[in-house]
Amino acid sequence: ASPVTELRSLVERTEGWCSAIAPAKVNLRLDVLGRRADGFHEIATAMLALDLTDRVSARLGARPGLSLELEGPLASPDVPVDGRNLVWRAAAGALERAAADGRCPAELGVELALFKRIPSRAGLGGGSADAAAALLALEAAAGFELRDDERRELLGELGSDVAFFDATRASGYGWCFGRGERVRPLQAPQPRPWVALVVPAVESPTAAVYGALGLAPGNLATSPAEGDVLEDPLRGALDSKGAGLSNGLERAAIEAVPELGQWRTVLDHAAPGEYHLAGSGSGWFALHADEAAAHRSIERAHAAAVVAGLGTRLVTVARAAGHGAKLVGTEAE
Ligand code: ATP
Repeated sequence: ASPVTELRSLVERTEGWCSAIAPAKVNLRLDVLGRRADGFHEIATAMLALDLTDRVSARLGARPGLSLELEGPLASPDVPVDGRNLVWRAAAGALERAAADGRCPAELGVELALFKRIPSRAGLGGGSADAAAALLALEAAAGFELRDDERRELLGELGSDVAFFDATRASGYGWCFGRGERVRPLQAPQPRPWVALVVPAVESPTAAVYGALGLAPGNLATSPAEGDVLEDPLRGALDSKGAGLSNGLERAAIEAVPELGQWRTVLDHAAPGEYHLAGSGSGWFALHADEAAAHRSIERAHAAAVVAGLGTRLVTVARAAGHGAKLVGTEAE
């Protein structure tokens, strides 16, 4: 049997639920420009959303306050179901702002549901995508919209990657600067490339990876492309085995999670030059113009990992989504 998980679209929730799709992302380019005085790292990164997706749903409930139900194959104990979950925090932040000027009642009851398929601590941005999708689902269910300034503030509070999924709703592709919160959308790639994706069993803690860079605050390099016409990292990447793709976190990720060094060796041997680390890891991806080539690549990579005794959480072929966080409609009760 093939080790490759087939991605199917998610069945929609019904009965008054408003649902939004939360796509995973990979970083086609990631440059760390330095560490700011406030401790955050300044980056320039091009991100591409994939059709490996979670789904966030919201509906008005009978009891006041929030509740969150977790479903799906990756509803692991690692994903919190309380105020620590980014879905919860997105909804709470939006409701608080809307209640402040009477756009919604102070004690509105909202039920949230999160269908998880994106592995956590894999560099695929699952929690961030869920937060952006939660905002869309919550607004649709509660019948208000945040103002632009409120939205920007809330997205920034929720995390560095959240703004990407909100700002690239129409394309799922763009450059991000600052901590990642300043987004310049690019047009959706056409045709949409295929993405061979392997997520090791080992997880990668983002903070430890940035810590392993060992950068002292100060001495920021200037952002190379911000404000200029931005280069499209996909140009040339598909016909020359990922030329132009790079990730400045890879060395630090290997230092923080030594098993990723074994993965690098195995992938270089199985598919030379093809695989890149997703964000701070632990996921690896290869871009292909052709679906069959992506399948051949992931099967070679998986076979080599098995021989090397390296475990996996997910082995699949995804495709560029062509959208970011996306509302999928409201069902009448
Ligand atoms: P990061 O965004 O920190 O780079 P990541 O993209 O690799 O991480 P995430 O799926 O975002 O991985 O999960 C990171 C951690 O965030 C999880 O281990 C979990 O404790 C917490 N978390 C909060 N909300 C969510 C969510 N909706 N889905 C998954 N994890 C969440």
